[in-house]
Amino acid sequence: MYLQRTIRKQVSVKGVGLHTGEPAQLNFCPAPADTGIYFVRKDLPGAPAIAARAQFVKATQLATTLGGDAFSISTVEHCLSALAAFRIDNLFIELEGPEIPICDGSAKHFVEALLEAKMVEQESARKYAYISQPIYYGTDEKHAYVTPYNGFRITCTIDFPHPKIGRQTIDLDINEHSYTRLIANARTFGFLRDVEALQAKGLARGGSLENAIVLDAHSVVNKEGLRYADEFVRHKVLDALGDLVTLGMPLMGHLVLYKAGHDVMNQLVRKIIASPESYRHIELGTDLYDYRLEDHHLWAFT
Ligand SMILES: [Zn+2]
Repeated sequence: MYLQRTIRKQVSVKGVGLHTGEPAQLNFCPAPADTGIYFVRKDLPGAPAIAARAQFVKATQLATTLGGDAFSISTVEHCLSALAAFRIDNLFIELEGPEIPICDGSAKHFVEALLEAKMVEQESARKYAYISQPIYYGTDEKHAYVTPYNGFRITCTIDFPHPKIGRQTIDLDINEHSYTRLIANARTFGFLRDVEALQAKGLARGGSLENAIVLDAHSVVNKEGLRYADEFVRHKVLDALGDLVTLGMPLMGHLVLYKAGHDVMNQLVRKIIASPESYRHIELGTDLYDYRLEDHHLWAFT
């Protein structure tokens, strides 16, 4: 049986907030079994906390923002992505402001912090959402869906009318090794014309060539170039993994994305939660094989 995980000791990640441009820091802190993932605003009276769950996602433009009327926490997806890859079930993420540090625009610094903190298993079994029938959200233009799969796999396609991007597809099984090697270092990206428009509105003040790939009309502006030829689609996988954490438990299934951003991912996660007939809660290492036999002939798109 696979057990839940937290980290062994508290660790910090420092940087700037993408939108405020102000210094931002987070602390990853161990949490008891069956807690889940919580963000804690230490700078506010009473240190309010919010669970990393789909129903608390209040904005999905540019980044995923959690919150309610009183406070918010933005750009949560890169940090959550690293937690998903390392299968951290329980964690308090303490913040002194409204933003997660953007770091270099990838999940590299969060992965390094988790490796420094070291993972520890807890006494409770981890529960997975085992997809037994397909769940689809979107349109022909952009969509995401999950289908049954004995593992966790992502197929992601993007298509941007830009000479350095174009159509890119990646298909891989996700585990901490594939994630660290192929996904974690892929940076977020933006177009120069959009960055200028955002900054004119007082947004993305912390955005720079230090924390994003920036593209002008023809090429990549960053002097160092790309980390991978298909860094763009790899970053979309990174984002999707982070957004999927808001399901509240790891997924057993195949996630397929077509031009899907944070909005589509949030709607897909909400739809999974609202479709209890299409998945089961299972503990892995027990009766997975039986589920596979039972489900094998069940699913087909209609
Ligand atoms: Zn991102």
